Amino acid sequence: MENCVFCKIIKGELPSTKLYEDKDFIIIKDINPSAKVHLLAIPKNHVPYIDMMTSEGTTLLGNILLKISKMQEELGITEGYRLVINQGENGGQTVNHIHIHILGGEKLKDM
Ligand code: AMP
Ligand code: ZN
Repeated sequence: MENCVFCKIIKGELPSTKLYEDKDFIIIKDINPSAKVHLLAIPKNHVPYIDMMTSEGTTLLGNILLKISKMQEELGITEGYRLVINQGENGGQTVNHIHIHILGGEKLKDM
């Protein structure tokens, strides 16, 4: 999608620090980390909002969660982690391309 920062990263038109990539999604470092480890898991397919997701999308999200749990060592989150999806304006979503925040690497504050 034109003008989407995550689509540009996926296409290699913008730089990123990539920790994982397969045909369906990438995991990159967040440019403005809010924890010692702050990563973003981003599906390659441009879907703006979680509430626009199809059942295919939910399968992919499940696969992403499984992959994260299997990559804890490489991602630096073996002592625990928090997954966050912001939806829409009230949820604080700023990039309208579905992504999962992966936070960890330290004891996170209570929500
Ligand atoms: P959200 O507020 O849930 O939409 O999260 C968007 C996240 O994307 C924020 O944590 C930003 O710091 C992050 N972000 C924005 N631009 C980039 C970029 N070029 N590379 C990596 N992370 C980015
Ligand atoms: Zn996009």
